[in-house]
Amino acid sequence: MTAPKLPGHPHIAYQGDELFIENVRLSDLARQYGTPLFVYSKAAMLSALAAYQRGFAGRKVQICYAMKANSSLGVLQVFAQAGCGFDIVSGGELERVLAAGGEAKRVIFSGVGKTRAEMRRALEAGIGCFNVESEAELEVLNDVALAMHQRAPVSIRVNPNVDPKTHPYISTGLKGNKFGIAHERTLATYQRAASLPGLQVVGIDCHIGSQITQEEPYLDAMDRVLDLVETIEAAGIPLHHIDFGGGLGIDYNDDTPPAADALWAKLLAKLDARGFGGRQLMIEPGRSLVGNAGVCLTEVMYLKPGEQKNFCIVDAAMNDLPRPAMYQAFHRIVPLTSRPATSTLYDVVGPICESGDWIGRDRSLAVAPGDLLAVLSAGAYCMSMASNYNTRGRAAEVLIDMNQVHLIRVRENPADTFSHERLPT
Ligand SMILES: *Cc1c(COP(=O)(O)O)cnc(C)c1O
Repeated sequence: MTAPKLPGHPHIAYQGDELFIENVRLSDLARQYGTPLFVYSKAAMLSALAAYQRGFAGRKVQICYAMKANSSLGVLQVFAQAGCGFDIVSGGELERVLAAGGEAKRVIFSGVGKTRAEMRRALEAGIGCFNVESEAELEVLNDVALAMHQRAPVSIRVNPNVDPKTHPYISTGLKGNKFGIAHERTLATYQRAASLPGLQVVGIDCHIGSQITQEEPYLDAMDRVLDLVETIEAAGIPLHHIDFGGGLGIDYNDDTPPAADALWAKLLAKLDARGFGGRQLMIEPGRSLVGNAGVCLTEVMYLKPGEQKNFCIVDAAMNDLPRPAMYQAFHRIVPLTSRPATSTLYDVVGPICESGDWIGRDRSLAVAPGDLLAVLSAGAYCMSMASNYNTRGRAAEVLIDMNQVHLIRVRENPADTFSHERLPT
């Protein structure tokens, strides 16, 4: 048997029968740090970022990493050092950016439910822009800024009403979901924003969804947003920047998203054709920068043959890898040591007491207890969504930089999981 190919995973490959990330053998890491273990390739993150940078060569652009995809400090530091800004969705994420050495002025703050306290803290830190998601939020932000004798920089998130053709839970730019301002209300909302003394209108933004694998939704959304820019500017409200959000997909299972540079070549051609080529641009990619830069290592604990199904019970679970349970998402699962043996069809499941605790269904694997597996495409929306369900400590994380191994998160022990709890006396 030849070792499986890992499409879409640069810097993660078999050398002989052994799976490596950059120059490090993954089975060595599993033995040293235990499992489940998240392992990230710094080179893979930087090459994903480089695809965007190539696409934008010669343009005015700020790439703001959408950090909810993976908000571990060690990952944020990689992007801060590469010159990225950050798209945040909570006050907690702002504190993480600052702790990782990111600059507040390159932070944009998205999200439908910003609290007054979060607004105050973001103004005090001096963030670059608030991406406002409702008319009510504009009024509150104006009050908060005036009370601090400041003007809050704002962009309004518009809902271009295009179908990104992705899972309904991760589609955000259609009528009838909670995000953004309806297309018809946009001009009135901008006029209101421009009239409020505590606000400074600086831009417009949109974000149509996630795991988008086609270019049409982006091209459609861009047309819709540019129509709005023309309308808003014709009403005498200049916009300094245009922010096209994130959402570009990755290859989980023979998905074929456009490459970031190829997609942006088309989008920039449209911007040029419509006379906006010289405008300050912003984008908010998350998944496409980190998703295929990470794997989760797990050990096979038990094999449980059954009449209808065979189960391969591993030590990673839905608290570590929530995407299958949450979105029926697919992650490839491959052995750390590929060996010639007959495979059996298994459902790969975790130890959590829920039938939803599965990681892969009907997978053909040649495994024995004690074997190590890698769950691929685990760099985005895995650790950042991890929980302590079943009082399982969250996994450790390591960041690989060529031959160097950096432990960026220590495994939680049971006491860590209840350290904030108190017994009533
Ligand atoms: C989640 C999110 C992103 C990033 O989405 P990806 O699919 O991870 O690229 C960007 N902008 C906003 C406002 C988001 O909510």
